[in-house]
Amino acid sequence: MIGVYPGSFDPITLGHLDIIERMAGKFEKLIVLIAKAPDKNALFSTEERKQLLQQTLAHLKNVEVDVHQGLTIEYVRRINANVIVRGLRIVADFEHEMTMANMNKKLAPEVETLLVFARPDYFFISSRGVKEIALNGGQLSGLVPSNVQQALLNKLSIKSF
Ligand code: ADP
Repeated sequence: MIGVYPGSFDPITLGHLDIIERMAGKFEKLIVLIAKAPDKNALFSTEERKQLLQQTLAHLKNVEVDVHQGLTIEYVRRINANVIVRGLRIVADFEHEMTMANMNKKLAPEVETLLVFARPDYFFISSRGVKEIALNGGQLSGLVPSNVQQALLNKLSIKSF
């Protein structure tokens, strides 16, 4: 079975990494898909996000990183994947995920959505929160992998000029 874990990953956090590590073993192949959304104001370019993901996930041999613009479900169908993986943190995530899962079910009944609960230690971590903390000089350890910590510091020092 092939799984696809789509998201913005702007940038990858320890919460994302935990979901990927837990799910990698459940699939023959797991594709982490950067869903390109032109309307979202991203801090990292798609190429930078891809690089950070590849560095972070290098130890997981059956995990690949890819980029897609357009409907995720079209990508999932094109590569003949079976399952879309998403992470659930708080109740507020649920409504959004349910709507998307139902919409995708309508478009591609053969594809299942698998919602995975965030590990309790990581349920409060979001890419948005991490960027906020970085911007204000807060402690990033325990929130993102070390390569991402460095990338955030580099990016924000560039941005402040
Ligand atoms: P999106 O913009 O599609 O929500 P994100 O990169 O923010 O993209 O998140 C991708 C997926 O990972 C979503 O399903 C989200 O709920 C999940 N996720 C985000 N942060 C965490 C976390 N700390 N623990 C578990 N899952 C998470």
